Amino acid sequence: MPFAHRCFACDSTSPSVPTREAAQRAAQLHRDTIHGGHIPAAGDAIEPAARLITGRVLLVICAALTLASLLLKLIAS
Ligand SMILES: [Zn+2]
Repeated sequence: MPFAHRCFACDSTSPSVPTREAAQRAAQLHRDTIHGGHIPAAGDAIEPAARLITGRVLLVICAALTLASLLLKLIAS
């Protein structure tokens, strides 16, 4: 499961990485470089990376369903 570091102070999320440990390293690098090594007052977290369906993927799924529906109508008639 991919993970990402999320900084609430910067309202930013790291790129997803394959392990929690890699996300923790990204968190420490972010703290060191952006926050002078401090934990941001607004907090941060390691979270499972979201697996969002992009608009393009959704469009392909809709097109496939439409095509399947048309084929079924042709076969049924
Ligand atoms: Zn930050």
